[in-house]
Amino acid sequence: MKFIDEFRRSDLAKGLVSRIAQRSKNNVRFMEFCGGHTVAIFKYGIRQLLPPTIEMVSGPGCPVCVTANSDIDKCIAFSQLSDVIVATFGDMLKVPGSRSSLQRAKAEGADVRMVYSALDALSMARDNPDKSVVFLGIGFETTAPTIAASILQAQEQKIKNYHVFSMHKLTPPVVKAVLNAGEVKIGGIVCPGHVSVITGSQAWEFVAKDYGIPCVVSGFEPLDILQCIAMLVEQVEGGRSEVEIAYSRGVCHEGNVEAQKLMHRVFQSSPAEWRGIGRVPGSGLKLAEKYSRFDAERVFEIEPGESYEPEGCICGEVLRGVRTPNDCALFNTICTPQSPVGPCMVSSEGTCAAYYLYGGDSRG
Ligand code: SF4
Repeated sequence: MKFIDEFRRSDLAKGLVSRIAQRSKNNVRFMEFCGGHTVAIFKYGIRQLLPPTIEMVSGPGCPVCVTANSDIDKCIAFSQLSDVIVATFGDMLKVPGSRSSLQRAKAEGADVRMVYSALDALSMARDNPDKSVVFLGIGFETTAPTIAASILQAQEQKIKNYHVFSMHKLTPPVVKAVLNAGEVKIGGIVCPGHVSVITGSQAWEFVAKDYGIPCVVSGFEPLDILQCIAMLVEQVEGGRSEVEIAYSRGVCHEGNVEAQKLMHRVFQSSPAEWRGIGRVPGSGLKLAEKYSRFDAERVFEIEPGESYEPEGCICGEVLRGVRTPNDCALFNTICTPQSPVGPCMVSSEGTCAAYYLYGGDSRG
């Protein structure tokens, strides 16, 4: 298949693997921030191809996984309101909150519907004028502009029953929070590809400059990731810390400026709660005052109750790269994708799901 097969060629992969093995002399730990990279690394067995000098750890780059339990509880509370349809991406349905999940709420009679985009949710509002639609806005810089566009469209078309509960998060502030916490020594970052399409590689310059950590933006095919690791190794061995791009077919230095403008027109940055990491200043996106009538949190009164983490689940530590799913006593015993205890097992980009589906390695 054009544009796929080229990035899966085994002869090129072998060349990159041998280049990495030859160049890598010093022990180093690289963090892949993005859940999409975690899944690809496991799916293509990339960890097993690397020399023992390189350790890969997963970071907090899965939007479903990092959504705090208090926000999941709010999502469920919205579904309990009468005449409200909760519209959500499928991954959110099974995520357990403190007492229930959206899937369970739906089974008990709540009107919870799966959508593939914010525009689907907007159409739902148009088609159900006697109800209010609350769309659960989740994701990083990649999805926020499309949701901003749906709000502008609702305004333009005078659709008054469309609301967004914005749980969007910005990635550079949380990378900063993880680095400041200093719990895991990181020698290089595999920077997220899709996020960087919007933010540009410039978003990671502070990591190279202020923390002296090499950064390479990667795509999601096996050759992209191997190329990225090879470039990180070159920086480490050469004593450099710069921001480089191994995904130039999607990412440039400035990013998508129009999408950035759209996002900042509708949203304003705010503190946000991240599972396992806590409150990170400037890492959330809430609707700007001008669009407050679309803000579900301001329009509806909900009673989400007290929030607490699932007993025995160490998702928070997995998301910080401090522990792996293999360290969790519930992994593959009580917690499986069929019966997930925490979000890292539910999400298609979750680290626990990747370990379960593709097998965690002993260096995990
Ligand atoms: Fe949480 Fe399950 Fe992962 Fe353990 S295996 S950290 S319970 S999601």
